[in-house]
Parts: sequence; C-alpha cells; structure tokens
Amino acid sequence: MPTTCALCRRVIPDERIADPQALQEHHLRPEERATSPTVMLCRPCHEQIHALFTNEELREAYDEIESLRSADRLQGYIEWIRGTETLEISVETSRRVRER
Ligand SMILES: [Zn+2]
Ligand SMILES: [Zn+2]
Repeated sequence: MPTTCALCRRVIPDERIADPQALQEHHLRPEERATSPTVMLCRPCHEQIHALFTNEELREAYDEIESLRSADRLQGYIEWIRGTETLEISVETSRRVRER
C-alpha cells in the first residue's frame, strides 16, 4: 500500500516517507498533542491547514480529516494541489498560483 497524504490523497514516494520536508504528522486537536489523533499529510497540505485555520477552529470544527477534506476554505487548494506533482510547495507559492 503506497503512503498517501490524508488530505489531497497524493502518493508520497517511498524514498520520501522519512523526510519531514515531504510528509508530516498533523495533530487533529493541536492543543492536545498527547492524546490527539493524528493523520499524515504532505507538507503543502499541512502548511495550508495551519495557514487557513486557527488552532481553535481546528479544535471546534475540523478535528476529523473528513471535515477538513470537505471544508469550503480548502476546496480550491485541494483541487489545485491534486494537479501538481511536487511535495515542496510553500504556502506562498500556492497563494500566488491560486490568485492567478
Ligand atoms: Zn497533501
Ligand atoms: Zn498540524
């Protein structure tokens, strides 16, 4: 089974799985790291989530990957990232691309 990002579902190549620049663990309840369930996200998705939502919003409304995946604010991003191959997009780049 290939490792995929829990949000965008892109496949993380085996040789990048141990690389924190490619694959990161997201705590669905950031303020309760010790007990929070976690999901594995590619770095662009992880950065995007924390750029768009405060920890409070994540705790109140997005503590499940399903609710993140269907969040209005993420739809444009998810559609865009699914069409790209790279795992190393900064939030700045994605913002520029989406405003075009
Ligand atoms: Zn992703
Ligand atoms: Zn996180």
